[in-house]
Amino acid sequence: PWQDDHGDVHINRGYRVEFNSALGPYKGGLRFHPSVSLGTVKFLGFEQIFKNALTGMPIGGGKGGADFDPKGRSEDEIMRFCQSFMTELYRHLGEYTDVPAGDIGVGTREIGWMFGQYKRITNRYESGTLTGKGLAWGGALVRPEATGYGAVFFLQEMMKVQGRSVDGRTCVVSGAGNVAINAIAKLEQLGGTVVACSDSQGYVYDPDGIHLPTLREVKEVERKTLEAYAERRPNSQHHVRGNIWEVPCEIALPCATQNELNASDAARLVANGCLAVAEGANMPTTPDGIEILRQGGVLFGPGKAANAGGVATSALEMQQNAARDSWSFSKTEAKLAEIMSSIHEQCAATAEAYGRPGDYVLGANIAGFVKVAEAMCALGLI
Ligand code: GLU
Repeated sequence: PWQDDHGDVHINRGYRVEFNSALGPYKGGLRFHPSVSLGTVKFLGFEQIFKNALTGMPIGGGKGGADFDPKGRSEDEIMRFCQSFMTELYRHLGEYTDVPAGDIGVGTREIGWMFGQYKRITNRYESGTLTGKGLAWGGALVRPEATGYGAVFFLQEMMKVQGRSVDGRTCVVSGAGNVAINAIAKLEQLGGTVVACSDSQGYVYDPDGIHLPTLREVKEVERKTLEAYAERRPNSQHHVRGNIWEVPCEIALPCATQNELNASDAARLVANGCLAVAEGANMPTTPDGIEILRQGGVLFGPGKAANAGGVATSALEMQQNAARDSWSFSKTEAKLAEIMSSIHEQCAATAEAYGRPGDYVLGANIAGFVKVAEAMCALGLI
């Protein structure tokens, strides 16, 4: 329960699914979105187990969230909801038990309000209980950038196998949240031109390449829709409720949400000459979409491999918290790049070993599963 600014009381439903702790404490984000249900949290938590295993870090798998809709709510209202949510959740958490982080609708600001409430209730400054914290209070450099950067590092590794690179390529990135913004930043650093991104209201096409400072101002500071971006960039066009996958590109990064790229979108990408798709979001491509990309010869990096950089860097944050240490940006980014390259290597080697070279879906599923299954057997069956 939480109280809005007029004093009215609202009730939302919250969840935490602690799925598997064979490799470490339950680990995974919290999502605040009206679409959140037990089913959503279960599929996300299930994927998280194998994603976390692929990182090679000591983390189990879990996920949580609530059907609370932060859209249109004041800062105070969101803070009160975060506090109420943590008032119930705190008893299930702990650095050796279950360590949540952010996801859709939950960023550093919300983690701060939840960490504050955890600290108040338990009387413990237990930094390792939540990740994605602010830098001044136990957070780690590169954690905000990590999911987007990691997806691009994975993409680079896939392209390298084919003797290709990101430089000079036209890219489309769906979403305009934390993952998308940082994926765009890394693609642009590597010489790619990102011509479109999207939000729940539609997409923006900017033939000159998405202008990051403007995008950040609109999305991170003003929290407005992409219409405000288009107003500030005269050469760009805002397509209300348009489908971003109609924009021709060589590289496509779905970084918004589940099931956002279906079979007809995949067919359009293939027809437009797309070379590679790396999933920054969790399960954004539908199974028939994946099949069409495969048949079309498009490189495909599934989310549980390609977007593992976020949770991997959360584990690096836990490592720094445990040692009461803080690492530089360049050291942490180099570690992230190393982890992404190792995930790519594991997926590629496993796909090869199972007779399906280049099939990163099969490689990621089997490599992740085997690690978890072996640990579960080693810990004894009851
Ligand atoms: N929500 C992110 C994910 O889907 C990050 C989880 C974490 O850092 O614990 O992997």
